[in-house]
Amino acid sequence: MHILVVNCGSSSLKASIVDAVSGKSVSKVKIERIGEVVPDHGAAIEHALESLVTDGIELRGVGHRVVHGGEAFSRPTLIDDAVVDQIEELSKLAPLHNPANVEGIRAARAALPDLAHVAVFDTAFHSTLPNRAKHYAIPGELADKHGIRRYGFHGPSHGYVSARAAEFLEADIADLRIISCHLGNGASVAAVEYGRSVETSMGLTPLEGLVMGTRSGDIDPGALLHLAREEGLDLDGIDELLNRESGLKGLSGVSNDMRDIEERAAEGDARCRRALNVFAHRLRKYIGAYAAVMGGVDAIVFTAGIGENSALLRHRAAQRLDFLGARLDPDANRDAKVDADNPVAEISTRRSRCSLLVVSTNEAHAIAEGAAHVILEKDKVDTQRVIPLAISARHVHLTQEAVEALFGEGHQLTSYKPISQPGQFACEEKVDLIGPKRTIEGVRVLGPTRPACQIEISRTDEFHLGMDAPIRNSGDVKNSPGITLQGPNGRLTLTEGVIQARRHIHMHSDDAAYFGVNDRDVVEIEVDGAGRDLIFKDVLVRVKDSYVLEMHLDTDEANAANVMRGQEGLLVATGREVRLRRKN
Ligand code: ADP
Repeated sequence: MHILVVNCGSSSLKASIVDAVSGKSVSKVKIERIGEVVPDHGAAIEHALESLVTDGIELRGVGHRVVHGGEAFSRPTLIDDAVVDQIEELSKLAPLHNPANVEGIRAARAALPDLAHVAVFDTAFHSTLPNRAKHYAIPGELADKHGIRRYGFHGPSHGYVSARAAEFLEADIADLRIISCHLGNGASVAAVEYGRSVETSMGLTPLEGLVMGTRSGDIDPGALLHLAREEGLDLDGIDELLNRESGLKGLSGVSNDMRDIEERAAEGDARCRRALNVFAHRLRKYIGAYAAVMGGVDAIVFTAGIGENSALLRHRAAQRLDFLGARLDPDANRDAKVDADNPVAEISTRRSRCSLLVVSTNEAHAIAEGAAHVILEKDKVDTQRVIPLAISARHVHLTQEAVEALFGEGHQLTSYKPISQPGQFACEEKVDLIGPKRTIEGVRVLGPTRPACQIEISRTDEFHLGMDAPIRNSGDVKNSPGITLQGPNGRLTLTEGVIQARRHIHMHSDDAAYFGVNDRDVVEIEVDGAGRDLIFKDVLVRVKDSYVLEMHLDTDEANAANVMRGQEGLLVATGREVRLRRKN
């Protein structure tokens, strides 16, 4: 399943065609200097689509990386006009990123109007942050008014490398406490406790936390006040300072690139050595803090440009973590190489209780996976035919003989109204059911008459009447309990005939072909019960060309699933595997 992954920055666009299952990218292109070389994002998308190799590839959809999803988006989301507006609205929280993301989405939707477009948010993975980690200590009203809280970023990467780490460790992610260190130009740490992000170092914006290429990360807000006063910095000046002039670049005075800094530090450049030290120290500090947050740690993962490539930085960050049960193997660390084919390398010793791992991140794969998931769900809903539900209240089928015993000699059933299955009708006639304990009055008779009497009641009715009736297919009344019926002209005691009708689906043979089932198959049907969703097992399929597609539930079943007449069910499983297994 191929997904076009689009990652739009303010002046650049990265696009790739990714197999959502393997993560392999078939073709990719990067377009830079939007606004100079190409006029705008629309033109950039067109360029990208021209240069991407799409021969023989069927694109199933487009996954857009969107940086800020705010409170509104906690999972990948199918894009419509309203979603685009919401993402644009969130530009207030991410002025450097969301406007470009929106431009990209608009251009791609215009160029590829027939494909499903899905937004995959950087923030979504962290929507599980608990309140204690989410809130800044500022007045609550102000925070609420402006949506000021910690959101976290790099979600696709943290989610992706955590999952790869769990696979590598042959463990369920729900059993692991992972500290994920994404160290690229932007850098963040996440505490992933049993599969859920519970802490992360970036906050309202991607500026908080670690030292980054050009971003400061954590800084005393008082320092900004001081600088504003002493240097006369205005807001744009502070923005520029913290986002573009700080971090490794600011500390080293020469470069935002870790490779340059390592090189110069090795040559003795004091500022570059300090840059390295500050970077590594802050990372260690976060690792220790997040181990405390989770009450321990089972794996520490290093990823992205620096995490995957800098043995020095990993060594600095991960040495002397014995107190956490993490022992670095210096040789393994030095030799660690990861790539798309070998995405995980272990750099801890065999005796290390906590695994230290280098994992190759693949954000495009994470985005493609997220988009593919949404698209498959959507297709399922679009193409899966639903089955209308009918709810059978208690009712009675009678022989002509019984009709005459109850309603008088020569009496014919009179139709009150037709019911959904052709030829059948609800009758004017009603009878009372007299059980050992109590009586139920006025139970509707269904016509036409049948070769045997059959009284279909619910489990609740049984308790009320004081009897036990078996669950049976319609028509199968052998050895079921009897009951006394009272009509206006007589009373009739039956020796058998009371059943709970087995739930079933009436199908035309065309329906059966569509669902891939046969007469007498047993299937599972899911119903959306508004808070009481249920999957009904043991649903019998009955196929006849006179039938209209409909599933019959009794009142107890319908009430248990909180559904009403006219709602719909979805066929989720056929019983075929079960029967095959039994045969073997
Ligand atoms: P982005 O956030 O732009 O995706 P990357 O994940 O590509 O960033 O990471 C870029 C960072 O990785 C740069 O600081 C770069 O110097 C660093 N990096 C890449 N290769 C190495 C290496 N071999 N040694 C040290 N640092 C490296």
